[in-house]
Amino acid sequence: MGSRVGKGARGLTRRSAIGATGAAISALGASAAGDGRAQVRTGITRLKLKHTWTTVMSSSDFRDTLQVSYSRNGITGHGEGAPIVRYNESAESARKAVESVQDLLAGADPAAFEKLTAEVFRRIDGQYAAKSAINIALMDWTGQRLGVPLYRYFGLDPKDAPVTTFSIGIDNPATTRAKVEEAAPFPILKIKVGLDTDEATIAAVRAVTKKPLRVDANEGWKTKEEAVRKINWLEKQGVEFVEQPMPANMIEETRWVRARVHIPVIADESCLHAADIPKVKDAFDGINVKLDKAGGVLEAYRMIEIAKSFGMKTMLGCMVSSSCTVTAAAHLSPLVDYADLDGNLLIANDPYSGVIVRNGKLILPDRPGLGLLPLSRA
Ligand SMILES: [Mg+2]
Repeated sequence: MGSRVGKGARGLTRRSAIGATGAAISALGASAAGDGRAQVRTGITRLKLKHTWTTVMSSSDFRDTLQVSYSRNGITGHGEGAPIVRYNESAESARKAVESVQDLLAGADPAAFEKLTAEVFRRIDGQYAAKSAINIALMDWTGQRLGVPLYRYFGLDPKDAPVTTFSIGIDNPATTRAKVEEAAPFPILKIKVGLDTDEATIAAVRAVTKKPLRVDANEGWKTKEEAVRKINWLEKQGVEFVEQPMPANMIEETRWVRARVHIPVIADESCLHAADIPKVKDAFDGINVKLDKAGGVLEAYRMIEIAKSFGMKTMLGCMVSSSCTVTAAAHLSPLVDYADLDGNLLIANDPYSGVIVRNGKLILPDRPGLGLLPLSRA
């Protein structure tokens, strides 16, 4: 990988690689011109979960994600999308969506990646996991071409990367206790709730740890009175904030709930794209941004900046994914208040290593682009 990155950066002077982004981009544009077409490849990878993963929505032992690679000028950028069934996405529909723009991607100038991403958004209806996979691959390629890690392209300081929570899916009390003990290295836990078993779940967690908790109800509480009762009880159990207490379209009810609780209420399913932010800005304290919902790194960046402009809290989350998507999100994490970037830690067959977690804190790779290293497995 090191030699491949080295080869990819050839032709850029050290000044253009590490200098002002504008200067580096013009070097990229000049050297990319006339270099022929890109190769775009797609594949579906079955990620195996270490534990059966259960939330209010579903229960599974594996997740199929779409992998996209974009190769040009001896550099390969990697992208990934985790399709979300709720939005009528599957690995196969995501693959078809990428294939529908394969010619566009192969022929376009990757130096104009903003224009290219906008055109991809215009041509593909829905299928945000596919859009995300394309955009991540383009951003990885661009970072490698410029010789800079993605966080540097966005002008961020990796020292500002936050602590990530580790997620505990819904399970019986004995398994919940075992999972919490297994999560010992993580200083903050995110507990999935939203069922009748919430009290038993939190009691099981509290039987083994006093750590701060964050809670995700995944739209599970169906009345505003139930949501208020549960949130005020959770506050007494040391919960810092609650994510998506009620169904996505119950914005008015959530505004009512927010006026009656003391801990922040964060939108996830109620806020998928930048255009949703004005709708949720008075009903929630913040938003959870995911690359797979937003459609990639650029759109996630835009969502974070818009939410901040409204004075909202921001969080980066993820689906069950490999280190490809999780590392791409982690490169933006110096921008946000909270991170829940553990999707790669839940799987047993990660094809890459990228971002790592030390005492809960996200440590960003300082290699160009996403900075992924392939992990070969027998
Ligand atoms: Mg959530």
